[in-house]
Amino acid sequence: MNVIFLGPPGSGKGTMAERVAERCGLAHISTGDMLREHVKQNTELGNKAKGYMDKGELVPDALILDMIKERFSKEDAGGVLLDGFPRNRKQAEELSGIMEIHKVIDLVVEEDVIVDRAVSRRVCGSCGTVHSTKTHNSKECTACGADLVTRPDDNEKTVRERYRIYEEQTAPLIDYYGAKGLVRNVDATLPIDEEAELICTILGGQ
Ligand code: AMP
Repeated sequence: MNVIFLGPPGSGKGTMAERVAERCGLAHISTGDMLREHVKQNTELGNKAKGYMDKGELVPDALILDMIKERFSKEDAGGVLLDGFPRNRKQAEELSGIMEIHKVIDLVVEEDVIVDRAVSRRVCGSCGTVHSTKTHNSKECTACGADLVTRPDDNEKTVRERYRIYEEQTAPLIDYYGAKGLVRNVDATLPIDEEAELICTILGGQ
C-alpha cells in the first residue's frame, strides 16, 4: 500500500507520518527530512536547496525528483508513506508514472493554529526528536539530553509564506486525488493518539 500525507506545513504531518508508518509497516519517506540531512551534510544538493528552504519556498522540481527517484530505487516491500511529496501538480504527475497511490490522507487544520504550533516547535539538534514549548519547558531533549534548537524555517513570517505556497501549489492536489476517489480528510487538531488511530483505521480499511 502506498499512501500520501497532504496537509499544510505545521499540521503535525511529519510526527503523524512517522507514527502511522511504523504501525502500518510502511517506509516513511519525508522529502523535508531528506533535504535537511543534505543541508546538514553540506552536499551539493543541500547547498542548492538551503536558500529556498530558509525562505519557505519550494525547492525546484528537478532537484526533488532526482532525489526521490534515487530513494525509490531502494526496496520498500510493505509500501511507502510519502510525507511532503508530491508538493505540486508536476510532482504528482511524475509520481503517477513511478508508483500507484492507494490512499491520500488530508490533514485539515487552520492557518492560525499552524502558526502557533510552528513558533513553539523545538527540535533536538542531535536526534531530531520534536518538542513543543507548550508542553516542554526545558531546553534539553527528553530523548537524548542534547540541546533543542528552533528550525530556521519555524518563524511566523516564513510559516505564513509557506502556508500561502501550500494553498497555491499543494492544496490543489486534494482535488487532483479527490477526483480519483483517494482522499480522506482527518482533523489534525485531534489528540495525537486519537488522530493516529483514526488514520490507521482508514488505512486498514482499504
Ligand atoms: P517539510 O519538512 O516537508 O515542511 O519541508 C521543508 C522544506 O523543504 C519546504 O519548505 C521546502 O522548501 C522543501 N521541500 C520539502 N519537500 C519538498 C518538495 N516535495 N518539493 C519542493 N520543496 C520541498
